[in-house]
Amino acid sequence: MPISASSTYQRRRREFRKHFFPQAQPAEWRDWQWQLRNRIRDADALGRIFTLTDDERAAIARRQGALPLGMTPYYASLIDPADPADPIRKTMIPQLAEFEVAPGEMTDPLGEDPRRPVPGIVHTYPDKVLFLVTDHCATYCRYCTRSRVVGSGELVPSRRAWAQGLDYIRATPQIRDVLLSGGDPLTLSDQRLNELLTELRAIEHVEFLRIGTKIPAVLPQRITPALCRMLKRHHPLFFSIHFTHPAELTPESARACERLADAGIPLGSQTVLLKGVNDDPETMKQLMLGLLRIRVKPYYLHQCDAVSGSSHFRTSIQQGEAILRHLHGHTTGYAVPTYMLDAPGGGGKVPLTPNYVVGQQGQVLHVRNHEGVDFHYHLPPPDESGRPLPLRDEHAAARAHPRMNP
Ligand SMILES: *Cc1c(COP(=O)(O)O)cnc(C)c1O
Ligand code: SF4
Repeated sequence: MPISASSTYQRRRREFRKHFFPQAQPAEWRDWQWQLRNRIRDADALGRIFTLTDDERAAIARRQGALPLGMTPYYASLIDPADPADPIRKTMIPQLAEFEVAPGEMTDPLGEDPRRPVPGIVHTYPDKVLFLVTDHCATYCRYCTRSRVVGSGELVPSRRAWAQGLDYIRATPQIRDVLLSGGDPLTLSDQRLNELLTELRAIEHVEFLRIGTKIPAVLPQRITPALCRMLKRHHPLFFSIHFTHPAELTPESARACERLADAGIPLGSQTVLLKGVNDDPETMKQLMLGLLRIRVKPYYLHQCDAVSGSSHFRTSIQQGEAILRHLHGHTTGYAVPTYMLDAPGGGGKVPLTPNYVVGQQGQVLHVRNHEGVDFHYHLPPPDESGRPLPLRDEHAAARAHPRMNP
């Protein structure tokens, strides 16, 4: 049984609604528009629900023009309001550490901006593009790689901006794979999303469509039968769903994924490895197995990008490897994601396996991408919390025999 379906979680969530949204009818709570309208967006609303720490209070007061605050009431109901160490809370409520910039951190860690031929398109790989169709999200993650653009008004979902993106794709025949992202494409209405997918489907060389979204985890009410009926007209269409913690595996998110899967949409998950949130091997295993139960195939486990102010979220590579070792061979192969690093500066995704990892000197990890080009990722400063490192260093062999590397 998913943890969050356990009676403690269910009780907590019922109490949350009664206590903090007593006027909400059950039908309103189930309505995604109501959830969006009633988002928790400022210090007052947060303070009404959560017992804020001094650090959180100071961080909320200090943030200006930065990544917006926002949480659906549904997602907030998954958090224990009195526990400052609640894993989901850490991803949603700002901390002062967000303002500290560690070595190697950047506002655009993936070097996307120089690879944007038009504002809405990121073209890093030969045959696939990211199409950033909106800068809105239902909730804003503190570790967001694209915090420089989300919620900033830079990628407003205008027909003119989309037309530029569509023109670029039409004029670039090598693009066979388009991944809609942002922001979160599912914050768009059914009608506008349908327009966009229809335009993309009309382009002969576009074979494969994907939507990258966090909505099934944070606003599962959005996955309505009408949305699914519309989506299934645009196959082959895949979903990459951002899941973070087993507490997200609720009856609501399970129903959302079931509806999408029933519409014939293959579902994959993308999870960012986050310190103190999901970096414990057993927590990650529960998430991966829980995802399989709701018909989502774990796709990528991402090393957290070195975005400015992320060092309190980032872990060592050894921690990620320990998690993979806890999964591989110990459970269903389908539950094992690929552990990925997005090479800083635009090298693309690099699997964190000995074929691609050249070595590590101090806090600098050296990787080689699919084109044989080298990149360096600055690991977060060493952990003072004294978290024990795993016993085995699988990269030691690769370092000792450099010729084993490509
Ligand atoms: C992640 C990403 C993709 C998709 O990569 P897959 O490995 O096919 O999932 C495409 N373009 C960009 C710029 C990306 O960052
Ligand atoms: S849902 Fe995705 S794009 Fe939106 S804030 Fe979170 S990580 Fe960023």
